[in-house]
Amino acid sequence: MTFLQHLVKEIKEKKIEDVDGVLKLRDNLAKTYKPKKLPSLIQVLLSSNKSIKFIQTKPVRTMSGVAPIAIMTYPRACDHGTCTFCPGGPNSYFGDVPKSYTGNEPASMRALRNKFDAYLQVFNRLEQYTLLNQTPEKVELIIMGGTFPSYPEDYQDSFIKDALKAMNDFSLMFFNQDGFDFDLFKKFFELPSDIHSKERIERIQNKLLKLKGSTSLEEEQSRNENTRIRCVVMNIETKPDICKENHINQLLKLGTTRVELGIQTLNDHILKITNRGHTIDDSIKATQLLKDSFLKTCYHMMQGLPESTKEEDINNFKEIFSNQNYKPDALKIYPCMVMPGTPLYEQYKKGLFKPITTEEAADIIIEGKKFIPKYCRVMRVQRDIPTKVTIDGVDITNFRQYMHEIMKDRGIKCKCIR
Ligand code: SF4
Repeated sequence: MTFLQHLVKEIKEKKIEDVDGVLKLRDNLAKTYKPKKLPSLIQVLLSSNKSIKFIQTKPVRTMSGVAPIAIMTYPRACDHGTCTFCPGGPNSYFGDVPKSYTGNEPASMRALRNKFDAYLQVFNRLEQYTLLNQTPEKVELIIMGGTFPSYPEDYQDSFIKDALKAMNDFSLMFFNQDGFDFDLFKKFFELPSDIHSKERIERIQNKLLKLKGSTSLEEEQSRNENTRIRCVVMNIETKPDICKENHINQLLKLGTTRVELGIQTLNDHILKITNRGHTIDDSIKATQLLKDSFLKTCYHMMQGLPESTKEEDINNFKEIFSNQNYKPDALKIYPCMVMPGTPLYEQYKKGLFKPITTEEAADIIIEGKKFIPKYCRVMRVQRDIPTKVTIDGVDITNFRQYMHEIMKDRGIKCKCIR
């Protein structure tokens, strides 16, 4: 009997019902078996015939009952050119990666591995969730990688159709009346084995591509209404000038429930010098149209843009929550960072731009947060781009935690809904 087999046997025999108990048992048995490396919880899970329900890793992501699945569209340049701070895109410094990303983020690495195919990306994410013992039944589908409504309409339809079909097919293949069939799942995904093996990934992808077949958006939408894994939130990203009636009608047809709008600043001059390709008036009109269409609106706001000041950045928070023209349901807060291959980096090298530091960004956002009402969800603070690929600006990855520590010292209580 191997170490793993022995461990699984004892977990069952001793009816161990918590992760700490499993880890304690693993450490005790290791004294006898002396393995070179201790097996991870995922390996323990894969070695059991049935899913050991209580072994869950990283449950934070699915704690709300809804699992986020972020998928990316193929790299495409934005029609207006590039915003001066924006990295990535086709033929970029980082290679052929989605616009606004570097290829180093977990979602973009998954997209690259799955050749930007929505069906493969969703299947892969569902496989990962299952390996964490968190197979979801409700999904928040997040479409990333630039301005989605700018892509050809056929591509948009087909991309969403494939994402929904993956949820539907995964449900059909691995759920039965008794729940999730872990053995079938392991058989299909050739587990236990090296989950990073290129050959295994390729074999799985080939099997999946054969299953993809031809179907329609309407068919998959209708199947998804009654399947085990349902898409309950669909989030897309756009910019204010690509958010007119025709774009919104298309988004509604796809089933969008939330739209992320790159507002960034309420200063037309700064929008112009950063080449945003839209005005404040576009931001106001887009917001109005989204609200009239019952779509949730999330603003992206950027601090420390060229020629902005601390006062202006703080005032932007105040203005968007006091002026009826704005009032978004959610916010993503991004201090401006200098990224390689961007026009802003060229300005930085010439000494024409200096980004705000981690401390300055925290000061601005802590002040700005005072104006954020309880109804607004702060979905993210800082980009998910690893700081190892940035040139200058906020230089820590746990920026939100860093801010919370400062707030604690200053006696400020955070009221944010995440
Ligand atoms: S619109 Fe968005 S994705 Fe396009 S260049 Fe600007 S920041 Fe990047």
